[in-house]
Amino acid sequence: MNYNDFFNDNLNSLKSEGRYRVFADLEKLAGDFPKALNYSDSKAKEVIVWCSNDYLGMGQNRIVLDAMIEAIEKAGAGSGGTRNISGTNHYHILLEREICYLHQREAALLFNSGYLANQATLSTLGKKIPGCTIFSDEKNHASMILGIKNSGAKKVIFKHNCMKDLENKLKKADKSDAKIIAFESLYSMDGDFSPVREIVNLAKKYNALTYLDEVHAVGIYGSRGSGVAEQENIMNDIDILQGTLAKAFGVMGGYITGKKNIVDFIRSNASGFIFTTSIPPCLAAGAYAAIRHLKFSSTERKKLLSVVTSLKKNLRKAGINFLDHGSHIIPVIVGDAKLCTQASKLLLDNYAIYVQPINYPTVPVGTERLRLSASPLHSDEMISKLARALKEVFNELNIKLAA
Ligand SMILES: *Cc1c(COP(=O)(O)O)cnc(C)c1O
Repeated sequence: MNYNDFFNDNLNSLKSEGRYRVFADLEKLAGDFPKALNYSDSKAKEVIVWCSNDYLGMGQNRIVLDAMIEAIEKAGAGSGGTRNISGTNHYHILLEREICYLHQREAALLFNSGYLANQATLSTLGKKIPGCTIFSDEKNHASMILGIKNSGAKKVIFKHNCMKDLENKLKKADKSDAKIIAFESLYSMDGDFSPVREIVNLAKKYNALTYLDEVHAVGIYGSRGSGVAEQENIMNDIDILQGTLAKAFGVMGGYITGKKNIVDFIRSNASGFIFTTSIPPCLAAGAYAAIRHLKFSSTERKKLLSVVTSLKKNLRKAGINFLDHGSHIIPVIVGDAKLCTQASKLLLDNYAIYVQPINYPTVPVGTERLRLSASPLHSDEMISKLARALKEVFNELNIKLAA
């Protein structure tokens, strides 16, 4: 085995396919969101970020920053251990309690990331529940796919958001066998919602547990920012609801919430929960402050949706096609990895606009895209500049957007 050739060949083929990933070396400017300094060139240059998942700008909200600074002063830097061995700080307990209130559920459990929450929970459920079959939407996030795979449980993939296909597949399973339906409320690459209520109804009909990833919806949808399940008034029908503290809540960490016995079961059995150091107290304090703030304030949510509406209007006026499923996520499908990467580079070099190209395997080949995400802090001027820049760049590269 020539190891050097192996690693180099792999990297070279990624490069020749135009899907080699390059980091944008950014320094976020606290208090000046969505501006950042880009160090990727020889000298630092100010850019406007149009692809952040800090959807509400909470990562720079004064209330969140103050809570984190105070927690560092009070409790120090790291947590000092796993949750079971000296790493449970009062901040973790407060945050888990707050997550219960947010989702109106009995119990909540923190993980170090949303990725880990999915991976650890699904793999534990699938492994431990005897004879369990997991029904998984074909567009589920990589962390859910990995959790299901690691569980060793039987996996049945259903067509994206297709209730007919899901029901046909549920029907074929033995009525008495254990089943889990794993899905998301808002799919982040297309920005489309799932029919949560219909899935819940099917789950009841076929005696299946529901596992819902609300990562892109928490903080934004529902009157208190608890997500789509709240908006659709089905919070109590979701057996395990999973979320992140890293997107609209602006900090870091993941969680699950649900009935006490299910959450306690995961707490007691999930390797990805038990054998890792808990998040630093300051992260818990920041997330706690963000959730509490957004529970009472809908200002940020409303402003985000008005910026999104204005951006969509400006894009339409500039003749730029995009997917519109009524969510806050705006994908512009370029359909070619190299062109997508080139468009992103021109935007950065010539217009000081940062939109990361999204290529395979994050999205299917032929649907490579620029995924725009707005925030309450993007101004009218930034919006019109973005629409103009996209139009000019697509013209220059002769990119024909799919209708
Ligand atoms: C980002 C994401 C995750 C992972 O959450 P992190 O907190 O970033 O680890 C899980 N599910 C979906 C759908 C995501 O987009």
